[in-house]
Amino acid sequence: MATCTGASATRARASMGRLTTLKPRVATLGDRLQAPAEQNGYGQGRGGRPWRRLRAQVLKRDGFMCQCEQCQGRVLIAHEVDHITPVFEGGTDDPSNLRAINRDCHSLKTQAEAKRARG
Ligand SMILES: [Zn+2]
Repeated sequence: MATCTGASATRARASMGRLTTLKPRVATLGDRLQAPAEQNGYGQGRGGRPWRRLRAQVLKRDGFMCQCEQCQGRVLIAHEVDHITPVFEGGTDDPSNLRAINRDCHSLKTQAEAKRARG
């Protein structure tokens, strides 16, 4: 699954050429304008008590080790919990869609997802 998206993202970036340097700045502005989306129930529980409990549960389940693709077969401590399928791509807060992840791995993955979301 992950290998397919990686290949198509590379192809998209190559075909867009130099224009990509301008685009992200505009997208960032758009994200900031949409920030107070929590009122509509989107991201409900994020930062709240249920999410924190779920987070602790997932970290414990995964042995506090990073479960990301880059860390397969490696031992790296996890500090955070990652959505395997991002929420904006239809992923849920179900434990089956969650895994323990290292802070650095998480920020790299989030960056990659943001790039994908912008097209
Ligand atoms: Zn990792």
